[in-house]
Amino acid sequence: MKDIEMILASGARTASDRSASGLPSYLDPARLGPWDTYLEQVDRVTPYLGSLATWVETLKRPKRVLIVDVPIHMDNGRIAHFEGYRIQHNTSRGPGKGGVRFHQNVTLAEVMALAAWMSVKNAAINVPYGGAKGGVRVDPRLLSVGELERLTRRYTSEIGIIIGPSKDIPAPDVNTNDQIMAWMMDTYSMNTGEATTGVVTGKPVNLGGSLGRREATGRGVFTVAVEAASRIGLPIDGARVAVQGFGNVGGTTARLFADAGAKIVAVQDQTGAIERADGLDVRALLAHVAECGGVAGFPAARGFETDEFWAYPCDILVPAALEGQITVANANAIKARMIIEGANGPTTPAADDILGERGVLVVPDVIANAGGVTVSYFEWVQDFSSFFWSEAEINQRLVRIMTDAFAGIWSVAQEKKVSLRTAAFIVGCTRILEARAMRGLYP
Ligand code: GLU
Repeated sequence: MKDIEMILASGARTASDRSASGLPSYLDPARLGPWDTYLEQVDRVTPYLGSLATWVETLKRPKRVLIVDVPIHMDNGRIAHFEGYRIQHNTSRGPGKGGVRFHQNVTLAEVMALAAWMSVKNAAINVPYGGAKGGVRVDPRLLSVGELERLTRRYTSEIGIIIGPSKDIPAPDVNTNDQIMAWMMDTYSMNTGEATTGVVTGKPVNLGGSLGRREATGRGVFTVAVEAASRIGLPIDGARVAVQGFGNVGGTTARLFADAGAKIVAVQDQTGAIERADGLDVRALLAHVAECGGVAGFPAARGFETDEFWAYPCDILVPAALEGQITVANANAIKARMIIEGANGPTTPAADDILGERGVLVVPDVIANAGGVTVSYFEWVQDFSSFFWSEAEINQRLVRIMTDAFAGIWSVAQEKKVSLRTAAFIVGCTRILEARAMRGLYP
């Protein structure tokens, strides 16, 4: 049963809460992990930026940070306050673009990093956007549908001063979906008095959403995996694949791998880890997760220790959950030949170094999971023109964009003898800083 104290303890903290270090929770240096990771990645790319390095400081600070209080009436009559964020990291190449995450561990530093990765991703894949991200520190599993709707609407109203179809366009991320996008679109439209479908992407199809958007991130992960595998001579048919996270991204990726003849041998999520050396029945697992909320207890598999997941024998590893998962603590144990980052920021820079030395190919988030925002871009274009494309056309264009972007990044990596991550950052950061330098400073 839902317990209000549990909800308050999980998410409804405020900036005045003190962490162990005595600082407000959002300033606790112990929680700057993802932002530190991002800064280190920028330091690694800087020597390759030539004269554009003059502008690199632009990448090291978000353009605009909004912290909002989100008070809502709970079903039992009490009022709970949640802390929300919307961060526009960069808008040199176009409006801000990036998802909104509802999670009990969301922090300012995390959303800063996620917004920055969107800037690099959108530039690396060459969609005409800057980078932004939002989040609310809440465990949505503890809310009723009504509470979730009130939270979404109040959060949208609070960030309404900085979002808009040509300013900043939110989308789904961890624990948010097409229903939440519909509430966001409605709230923004009611507040402005105009039916504005293009203010968010990832909407339901009958509300200006795009065919293929829900599957797009997983389809992109799979497309890039096929490209990377062919370059290292790894056949997908028969490949053993382990997936962390079985939400929209992990679940779709696993299904596409299985359809192509790969074996999904291990899956781990917030409920536990399961394995089957001969390959799991992915469709049955998807049905089990939809019903039970996680992979634990799936009958046709053996449960095993979550800690052992990273060392599980496989050829391809797909982290598709949260950031900071592959670290110095487990990078040496990984058996895969290739890691495809479905999640944002799953690998720390120190782990990147270990994997690089061990010859494990890491296909970084900013290209691997860019399929979602690519189809978000198609959705936004369709909303502007009120003319909608077929699913086949969308998937075809998605595959072409992902394949071309991957090929470009692969050749930069070969030419400069750098990791795919640094190559993707070279391509992305160069595009951002070229735009920044051309636009100049105002006033
Ligand atoms: N949340 C997704 C990401 O991290 C999609 C963002 C979008 O479509 O704007 O890339």
